[in-house]
Amino acid sequence: MKTKILEKLQQYAYFIWLILLIFIALFVTYFYDTNKKKQIYLLQKSFHNIYLKKTIETINSGLTPRYIEVNYEVQKGDNYQNILDSIDLPSSEKEKFLKTVKKRKEVKLLKQNQQVYFKIDRKNDIKIIEFKIELSKKKDIVFLRDVSLNKFSSKVIEKNLTKILKFKEGIIENSLYNTAIKLGIKPNTIIEFARLYGFQVDFQRDIWRGDSFQIIYEQFENEDGSLIESGDIIFSNLNIKGDDLNLYKFELDKKEIDYFDENGKSMRKTLMKTPINGARLSSPFGKRKHPILGFTKMHTGTDFAAPTGTPIMASGDGVVTRAQWCGGGGNCIKIKHNSVYQTVYAHLSKFGRGIKKGVRVKQGQIIGYVGSTGLSTGPHLHYEVIENGRKINSQKLKLPSGKTLKGKQRNKFEVNKIKIDVLKSELIAGLN
Ligand SMILES: [Zn+2]
Repeated sequence: MKTKILEKLQQYAYFIWLILLIFIALFVTYFYDTNKKKQIYLLQKSFHNIYLKKTIETINSGLTPRYIEVNYEVQKGDNYQNILDSIDLPSSEKEKFLKTVKKRKEVKLLKQNQQVYFKIDRKNDIKIIEFKIELSKKKDIVFLRDVSLNKFSSKVIEKNLTKILKFKEGIIENSLYNTAIKLGIKPNTIIEFARLYGFQVDFQRDIWRGDSFQIIYEQFENEDGSLIESGDIIFSNLNIKGDDLNLYKFELDKKEIDYFDENGKSMRKTLMKTPINGARLSSPFGKRKHPILGFTKMHTGTDFAAPTGTPIMASGDGVVTRAQWCGGGGNCIKIKHNSVYQTVYAHLSKFGRGIKKGVRVKQGQIIGYVGSTGLSTGPHLHYEVIENGRKINSQKLKLPSGKTLKGKQRNKFEVNKIKIDVLKSELIAGLN
């Protein structure tokens, strides 16, 4: 019997071993699992330990960068104080910054969308070591801290922009503006184009469907190709009912540029900077304390002191759109010269003969006489120039010179003209 059982066991030996092994494996796995869970539990427990937490925090704080950089885009209503308040800085640093900025006229006032950049050193005492304020789309002003003098030195730097020349042409459908926008020309360039032709062409009356234009202009772009700023117009042509009005950019002087037709003639029709004879400029355009109201206000025109009764001339050809009493301005006149320019004349003692709303006037025609009507302390002419709806400084007006180029300058212009014509054909052929 015993041997029989042994025989059977021997027969099933492999099978028994197998079952035994399975049990061992299951047991080991189970033991390993529980052990691991226990380890995780203990680890978690130690993480919750407040001392360890603190230790980790200190390690981390040691790893935060020494320098931090802040890029700020100016919003409407922002001033330096509220920008500084949004950054973690000691008050002595804020004061130092404000003092530095106040000294620089060009950055005293902030403009919407302007970029301001700070680099702050957080080692020991937190301090600004560098800041940069955008001056224009092409320039920045950088202030660097001189650690030994504890002062900022500044320099104006050019941004990294590439000049690209563009050629566009189009047939005007309903308006020049809409057609140009459809071609991808930026508004600033279109406004400049209208300004160039402003004295020759009335864009509301003279342009007809089917008229066409060509334009070569500069555009400044940054590295990723998104537009930054419009540059100068190099060449333009406006074809009205078959007639070409070509304009070539030409540098008269280092800083003076003007536009001339193919015969070297600049536009004759223009505006006068001083529409009065024998007067003295008594108050310039800009911020000033109002002589009667007492508070500081923007003076949106230029004042010319002259005796009562001195004749005032129309600054350019145009249509009178106002000749009446207008409150603080006393007796005043407004003239529309073209779709870009308007002029205003205020404090008149009386209007010129026949001057009333709707009347056409010629440049130099007498439209009124100097007086002291309205809010005025003495006889003077208050003269305003409005360009595209904005009051601008008449004394800094960029106007056609009215010149016809002669001699050496003419020769230079001819060479320049040929260069532009070659450039144009290259741009048309897509070679440039
Ligand atoms: Zn004035």
